[in-house]
Amino acid sequence: MNSPGLYVHTPFCPRRCAYCDFYSTENLSKIPMWLDSLAVEARQQAAYWTYEFDSLYLGGGSPSVLSPDQLASLKEALSPLKISPKAEITLEANPEDVTADKALAWAEWGVTRVSIGAQSFQRKALIAPLGRSHSDSDILKAVEAVKKAKLFFGLDLIFGWPGQTSQEWREDLELAVATGTGHISTYELTIPHKSPIAQKFLTGELIALPESEIADLFLLAGSYLKKRGFERYEVSNFARKGAYSRHNLKYWRRDAYLGLGPAAHSFDGSRRSANVASVDKWSLALAQRHTALSLLEDLTPDQARLESLMLCLRLAQGAPTSLINDQGKAAELALAGFLVKNGAYWKPTEKGLLCADYLARELS
Ligand code: SF4
Repeated sequence: MNSPGLYVHTPFCPRRCAYCDFYSTENLSKIPMWLDSLAVEARQQAAYWTYEFDSLYLGGGSPSVLSPDQLASLKEALSPLKISPKAEITLEANPEDVTADKALAWAEWGVTRVSIGAQSFQRKALIAPLGRSHSDSDILKAVEAVKKAKLFFGLDLIFGWPGQTSQEWREDLELAVATGTGHISTYELTIPHKSPIAQKFLTGELIALPESEIADLFLLAGSYLKKRGFERYEVSNFARKGAYSRHNLKYWRRDAYLGLGPAAHSFDGSRRSANVASVDKWSLALAQRHTALSLLEDLTPDQARLESLMLCLRLAQGAPTSLINDQGKAAELALAGFLVKNGAYWKPTEKGLLCADYLARELS
C-alpha cells in the first residue's frame, strides 16, 4: 500500500464567497472548540491509521485565518498520528490573509506548499460574480510574502464566469505565470444550487457562458500553459516538472487518505466515509464518543472499477487498458480524437480531458 494522505478541514471563512459550496462557518469563535475536537478525533483515528502519512493537506474553509498559537495547537492535536518528516504539507491560503510574518510562521511549522486562492486578477470578476474579499494587488502581495519565506506556491484560478472573454482569461494565465509559480489549478465555475450566486442566474441578473465558450477557455489554458513549460497532469491541474501535488494525486489514484474535521472525507482503500458537515454536530459526536460520520459507503467491485476508470481518465497518464472492457470502443474514441494509445494505457487528449466523465461512461 502507498503511504496514505492526511486531510484536515478547517471550516472557517471570515466571509463566504458568492459561489462557494464547501462547508464553512463565519463564526471564528468556534476555532478553539474545533481544535479540541480535532485532538479527540486524531487520538481515535490513530488506533486505525498506523501507517506513516507522507502528505498533509490543510484545506478549507480558510486555514490561513489560523493564528500562530492556533497552528501550534493544531500541531499538538495531530501529534498522535505518524506524519513523515519528509511529508508534503500544503496549506490553502486566501490572498488577503497572507502576510510576511504568517508565511514565515507557516514555513517554521513545516508547511512545504502554499496554495493561494487567487481565482482571478480581474477586479470585475473578484467583486462580482465571485464575491471575493481580495483584490488583484492582494494576490501579488501574498506571492511576495510566500516567496520571501522560500515556500513553494501554487495559484488557483477560476474560468467560465459570466461575461469572461478569452482575452481576460489569457491575461489571468499570463499574470499567474509571471508570478513564478510552479503549479496552477484552473477550475471551471460551477453554480451550486444553494449558493448565493445561484439566485442571480435564476433571475437572469447573471447569464452563464455558453458551453462552447467554456470549452474554448479550457483548451486555451492547455495550449497557453503548455507553451510556458506547464504540464496538464490532471483535468484541472498544471505543474512544472516535479511539482505535482502529491496529496491530490492520492485522490485521483485511489490511494488511502484520512480526513479530519467536519465535512472531511476519508477512504481506507475500500470504504469511503464522510464526517457530518457541521462543526457543532461533529464536536458533540466526538465529545459523546459517537461516530461523527454522515456517510459510510462500501463500493461493489464494479463500482470500484468504474470509479478507478473515471479518476484515471482525469489524469494525463490515462487509464490502463486492463481497466477497459471494450477495447473496440476505446479504438473508436481514439479515431474521434478523444484518446491515444500509449503502451499499456489509453491516454485522453486535450479534447478527451474536456469530457473525461463522458469517456468513462462510454468505456465502462
Ligand atoms: S474562501 Fe474558499 S471555502 Fe471560504 S467561502 Fe470562499 S471559496 Fe468557500
